[in-house]
Amino acid sequence: MTHSSSFEPNPASIGRVPAPPFVKLPDPGRLFEARRERLEFLAQTSELAPYLRFIAGLAAAQNAIQSGLPEPDLPPPDALDRAREFGMPALDRNQIAHDDILSETLNRLFDAVAPLAKPAEAAAALDHVKAAPLEQMHGMIRDVLSEAIPADAIAEHVYVAAGLQVHFARLAAKLDKDKLTRISDGACPCCGGPPVSSLVVGWMGAEGTRYCSCSLCGTLWNVVRVKCVLCGSGKGVGYQEVEGGAGTIKAECCDNCRGYVKIFHQQKDVALDPVADDIASLGLDLLLREGDYRRGSFNPFLLGV
Ligand SMILES: [Zn+2]
Ligand SMILES: [Zn+2]
Repeated sequence: MTHSSSFEPNPASIGRVPAPPFVKLPDPGRLFEARRERLEFLAQTSELAPYLRFIAGLAAAQNAIQSGLPEPDLPPPDALDRAREFGMPALDRNQIAHDDILSETLNRLFDAVAPLAKPAEAAAALDHVKAAPLEQMHGMIRDVLSEAIPADAIAEHVYVAAGLQVHFARLAAKLDKDKLTRISDGACPCCGGPPVSSLVVGWMGAEGTRYCSCSLCGTLWNVVRVKCVLCGSGKGVGYQEVEGGAGTIKAECCDNCRGYVKIFHQQKDVALDPVADDIASLGLDLLLREGDYRRGSFNPFLLGV
């Protein structure tokens, strides 16, 4: 007998612990509003309060501009099938720059953030992006999507990144989660983006499971714990945190690639947000900067801090 009997129970359906879902798609109608709330809360006690409030205003704009914004179009089904077959992300970043709905998303965002209180440099940067010729705008979109933001134009790229996050979250939300395939531990199955941070969640049926959070589209994808999401090594993985902290925010440091990604223990504090708490825990990055681990995750809102 080489074939199992049809009467055998499916191993996946027995036992008390169901397999945790591979991905959790973003809910763009909730994602940015929840982030705004968290940023406002963190600003109450943070030394970074003015900056956190500015990013909270940006998140409010990311939420508000979606009202009445036309739905973005997913790639055609055959392109999605092909991406899956070849182990590629469902959304092709290289095809996105000329999308009309992306242009409208960006223009709406630039208008929505105009009234925000901001430093003079951020105001000048907004004038620059609003006046940017199409080719320059495409260049900025490409820079954000390749996580290669020029150091002398970070403020401009913050606005472009915020608009791209809205566009990609709305696209990712429309994907069929059951048709996504694992790209690598460190790449989002929806858009190929690197993580901004990772979360140990307390979701029912997935308690204690770790998810990477996409820096672009907000998708969460499952990656086992105590494994470097940057290089895949399970050896020499250690944890560092700021002394006297709540024990909910740590840096997962890898001795193999010398990189680190933050890990947030959301099962202990459900309010932790992958982007907001990454910014607010800048102190941990500063601590690690003294050592020889490099930050391996991407957050466009942390580059200028
Ligand atoms: Zn993504
Ligand atoms: Zn590593």
